[in-house]
Formats: sequence, structure tokens, C-alpha cells
Amino acid sequence: MRASGKCPKCRGSEVFHSPCVMDRGEGNVGMCLAILRSDPIEARDLGQFEVYVCRRCGFSELYVRDFMHLPEVAPDHDDFGGR
Ligand SMILES: [Zn+2]
Repeated sequence: MRASGKCPKCRGSEVFHSPCVMDRGEGNVGMCLAILRSDPIEARDLGQFEVYVCRRCGFSELYVRDFMHLPEVAPDHDDFGGR
């Protein structure tokens, strides 16, 4: 869908794109959904998601924008930071 601009489910050709998938942080503040936080002090997120949504059927694709910078092993939840 990202490359073709077409929905693989319904063949719709109107695709919504957002570089940020909204998540909620402490105090209900809006944040972009990401896999982990690399530095709790700088609050630098790694693995931020972007989304493509078909306007005809709602099918969506998620991509990780900076996937090449992800660590080899997924961290424990305790290492996510931000708590
Ligand atoms: Zn569709």
C-alpha cells in the first residue's frame, strides 16, 4: 500500500498516511506510538510507527520508520523507560 498507493484488500486507491500513530503518555499527553525509548532522559523514541489506511475499507498497514536502528534483542518491559 505504501509503494503502490492501492489497498491490497479492496483495491481502493485513496490511502490516508500519517507519520505518527497517536498514543497517550502520562497525564494523557499525546505521543507517537513507538516500540521503545532509547534514552529516558532525552526521551528519544525508537521504532516509531507510521500508518497507511485505506479510505474505502479501513485496512491499515503499520511500518516502523527507523527499523534499522532497533536493537538485536527486544528489551524487557522494565527497560522501556518513561515510568
Ligand atoms: Zn481497502
